[in-house]
Amino acid sequence: MGKRIVIALGGNALGNNLPEQMIAVKQTAKAIVDLIEEGHEVIIAHGNGPQVGMIQKAMAELTRSEPEKYIPCPLSVCVAMSQGYIGYDLQNALREELLDRGINKGVATVLTQVEVDPADKAFENPTKPIGAFMTKEEADKMVAERGYNIIEDAGRGYRRVVASPKPQSIIEIESIRDMVAAGLVVVACGGGGIPVYKTEGHHLKGAAAVIDKDFASCVLAQQVEADTLIILTAVEKVAINFGKPNEQWLDELTPDEARKYMAEGHFAPGSMLPKVQAAVEFAESAPGRSALITLLEKAKDGVAGRTGTAIHQ
Ligand code: ADP
Ligand code: MG
Repeated sequence: MGKRIVIALGGNALGNNLPEQMIAVKQTAKAIVDLIEEGHEVIIAHGNGPQVGMIQKAMAELTRSEPEKYIPCPLSVCVAMSQGYIGYDLQNALREELLDRGINKGVATVLTQVEVDPADKAFENPTKPIGAFMTKEEADKMVAERGYNIIEDAGRGYRRVVASPKPQSIIEIESIRDMVAAGLVVVACGGGGIPVYKTEGHHLKGAAAVIDKDFASCVLAQQVEADTLIILTAVEKVAINFGKPNEQWLDELTPDEARKYMAEGHFAPGSMLPKVQAAVEFAESAPGRSALITLLEKAKDGVAGRTGTAIHQ
């Protein structure tokens, strides 16, 4: 029986620059189409760290070179651009791979807005550095003119920091559900989604924030009622005592075990910790749901239960 699977693609599925991404998506498309070929319904989410960094830097250079003509590009707009650009490469590679295997299926990217809570504690303490390094003068100007939060980054210069609030809900969820129901392969919630919050009336305002793609994928998986959330990353399994002589790779993990290991500090914040948290939240969200953390090229073996770390109750 085919499952409904949300796949969260990590940085290694997309590469670090334009040529790398074009090559990486070919392998990514193979891994995804392997699952489609087995009869699974697939919804794809992805990260955007290097891509949104590149776009943000390019837009900042534009403002710097012609300040009378261009104002700084909001981060929410940069995320939207990254969704479009990554979606294009994924659509292109998936279309080719599907046609090569004789599978007639449409692929579509949904520019996805994800609602955040403006009262989220994360806004009081922005921690996520983004964009290029600035001089003291440039940093002071940004603080005065734009109200940016700036930190001095380990002697290397000044950098803007933004908040990483929790995703609350997906604005385009009905469209995503309809497209999945129509049999399309949907790419959504790229880069964790375009962060927005409600203001007066029906207006949604872009937030200067980045949403963790692992948490956004978890919300997406719940809201499309997926059976499985697969987080594809740079390791085949989750480990305890990671990188130490007594390192131990885990085949299975219950939410209770995961909480114990989290409390003991086995998972690095900003890399493995959000994945384990997202996996646990999804696995506990309804009976029969499970999450899997593994390598991109092991996705098919992982779904068959042959590798990866499976998180379920
Ligand atoms: P992604 O781009 O897929 O989100 P990240 O670099 O954010 O990738 O997170 C994956 C990385 O987390 C792994 O490559 C590994 O180096 C690191 N990591 C930290 N703690 C652990 C752990 N306990 N087990 C396995 N990997 C871990
Ligand atoms: Mg990550």
